[in-house]
Amino acid sequence: MSRSIVIIGAGECGTRAALALRQHGFDGRLTLVGGEAGEPYERPPLSKEPLGADETFRPQPIATNATLSGQDITYLPATRAVSIDRGGRFVALDAGGRVAFDQLLLATGAVPRRLTVAPPSGRCLYLRDFGEARAIRRRLLQASSLLVIGGGLIGLELAALARGAGLAVTVVEAMPRLLRRNVCADIAGILARAHADAGVVIRCDVSVVAFEDDRASVRATLSTGETLAADFAVVAIGVVPETGLAAAGGLAIDNGIRVDGRLRTSDPGILAAGDCCAITAGEGGAAVRCETWSNAHDQAHFVAAAMLGSDARYDAVPWFWSDQFDLTLRGAGRQDGVAASVSRHTRGAEMRFHLGADGRLLAASAIGQDDAAARDMLVSRRLIAAGATPAPEQLRDATFDLKALLRSGA
Ligand code: FAD
Ligand code: NAP
Repeated sequence: MSRSIVIIGAGECGTRAALALRQHGFDGRLTLVGGEAGEPYERPPLSKEPLGADETFRPQPIATNATLSGQDITYLPATRAVSIDRGGRFVALDAGGRVAFDQLLLATGAVPRRLTVAPPSGRCLYLRDFGEARAIRRRLLQASSLLVIGGGLIGLELAALARGAGLAVTVVEAMPRLLRRNVCADIAGILARAHADAGVVIRCDVSVVAFEDDRASVRATLSTGETLAADFAVVAIGVVPETGLAAAGGLAIDNGIRVDGRLRTSDPGILAAGDCCAITAGEGGAAVRCETWSNAHDQAHFVAAAMLGSDARYDAVPWFWSDQFDLTLRGAGRQDGVAASVSRHTRGAEMRFHLGADGRLLAASAIGQDDAAARDMLVSRRLIAAGATPAPEQLRDATFDLKALLRSGA
């Protein structure tokens, strides 16, 4: 019988991994188990399209049913895997059947972290899937005020969208500043000023301690004792990796499904990729999880090759971008271990480079109009990947072409 690969999770990572397996020449049985209904689709982009009419808002397919069947991928939508029998090498499905595997890929993603003080309510919304995005858009089209809880990427993209549509918007962030997980304080500060200039009220260093929905509006009590009222609220306080299935199957969990540098779980025939997994490089190393589209995409291609025998180690540089008002925010690399930062002021953009104690470029972030920082950030990603140690004065000099550093191998 031909070899069988089963992928659990038909999101960005799982679907792209299925397609990549065929591109890499896998000709055995390939089954993609997806918990959501319909064709696999991109997480709904908030910042990347305007708030249009409801009828024009549709999921953007990652792969159509025709593409999947054309690639001989058995796609099981609206089907959840409920257990993994590692000894018997099969996965049990909620519909009652089971699928045998020789190799298994877990691409189960993440779910929004819940605000424990807020009971479930139609006016306190979360955002992960298409149905939730549609519910938020419907509220946005009717409401005049929005309370956003969480000043991360979803919270700020939504705040910009809602403010652009004329709503009164308040963002409550528990940390002393916005985007602590994503970009440095300087760049986050520039974005915070843009939000304030547009009329978004930003409250940092406060948390919501009580929450009520009186069926006409919501009221949040803050740690300061104040009360904020709005027509509805969106909670965007980060995500929790979806590890339940892996944990129940006895796989090691550490800040996500634990994987090594080749994305193998504690069972070498089972791999994990995307938002659900955390790479632990060596004994006692930090378990690093990444929650971006680029990571899901890169790991999908990597894991497909790994399942077919490649023994490379995963080392892609994570990156993201976000459009808010007329600004584009970009980030690349990781901020851990940063010892020094260098500023670069170019026409239309502000950049910050972050260097380790050994002078290596670890991360870069930028904010500016349209594509003002796009090229420099692209080069920065390549410099980070190459382990470059650029001279701070060259990074600082906006007339210096960063690409020269790639050529010189700095
Ligand atoms: P997901 O896309 O979450 O897919 C996991 C899938 O697995 C889900 O469909 C889930 O239902 C399914 N699943 C879970 N358990 C099971 C099970 N037991 N059985 C079957 N199926 C199961 N990142 C960026 O870099 N740029 C952006 O602009 C950006 N915008 C975003 C906008 C929104 C609204 C959201 C929510 C996220 C955004 N992200 C963005 C983050 C990015 O989309 C994620 O990092 C990426 O989708 C992760 O891919 P994934 O396949 O690991 O997880
Ligand atoms: P996020 O970017 O992790 O931001 C959540 C923010 O909320 C963090 O600053 C967090 O602080 C804060 N927070 C936590 N608990 C809080 C509380 N009780 N009250 C107020 N604030 C609280 O997560 P997100 O915005 O929810 O987005 C979810 C995922 O989608 C992320 O993985 C994100 O990367 C991804 N996404 C990406 C893009 C993009 O790249 N353009 C766009 C949308 C979404 P702590 O850091 O202390 O937890």
